[in-house]
Amino acid sequence: MEITNKYNVPAPLVTLASKEYYSKGASQYSVTELMAPPKIKRLREQYNEQIKTDVADMLWSMLGSALHVVMERGETPGYLSEERIFTEIDGVTISGAIDLQQETPDGVIIIDYKFTSAWAVMQEKLEWEQQLNIYKWLVETVKKKKVIGLQICALVRDFSRHETREGYPNAPIHMVDIPMWDSVFTQGFIQGRLDMHREAKMAQDFGEELQDCALEERWMTETKYAVKRDGRKTAIRVLDSEEEARILADKEKGYVEIRPGEPKRCTGNFCGVAQWCKQYQGELDDTK
Ligand code: SF4
Repeated sequence: MEITNKYNVPAPLVTLASKEYYSKGASQYSVTELMAPPKIKRLREQYNEQIKTDVADMLWSMLGSALHVVMERGETPGYLSEERIFTEIDGVTISGAIDLQQETPDGVIIIDYKFTSAWAVMQEKLEWEQQLNIYKWLVETVKKKKVIGLQICALVRDFSRHETREGYPNAPIHMVDIPMWDSVFTQGFIQGRLDMHREAKMAQDFGEELQDCALEERWMTETKYAVKRDGRKTAIRVLDSEEEARILADKEKGYVEIRPGEPKRCTGNFCGVAQWCKQYQGELDDTK
């Protein structure tokens, strides 16, 4: 991957962006790689030489890395920072780096820091649930310790004190409780992910199509229904239900404008490979 500097920012920032803060050590898969859609992992490997990212677009990932470095200075009794745990499953070594483990008399609480948006905090983030439950499984099976809680410590980068929407975080640092899975279920989940990655690798080696990314993996937003009326610029209301929108439109003598959901990971190229992805490019062609 090439890091560009379109906005002529100071060179030390480029150096910083080029440094690898995370090492998966001797493992074949880190937890984050395991959870990433196989299509993204395969395309990133295939087009690694051609992928260009501007240093300015790496601000939040650099701040994320900086936070991990700074956290090592915040050593506090009863808390263990930045531990990487390794294990082998089905002959494959996997590892996970856990941001923080709080030791309590009843067991461990696993905490993961995320620089994220208010929108992400308000969604059900399946990825967070998967990641933290794999960490739980690692702590339970490798360290033989009981885990009693999973939490995301969300650092909300676009927080606004004036927002009143339901579910909006109440402060720029917002704790999110994550549901816990049992170990047997998690082990099955990990084995399933390994199988998916193996199959994707084989498909790529044989020149076959890669399995599509699922809607939740593409960070698909919900389709909304705006009730509008001729002669009025803004919508009367924007609703989640088409049926409710049609009833209101009849009452208001207006019409319904459908605002389709958006696969934000694709449209924002957060996967880094959108330009080579047949699934997404095919959809764009269909809308032309
Ligand atoms: S563009 Fe979308 S569908 Fe394609 S690899 Fe990226 S996230 Fe997956």
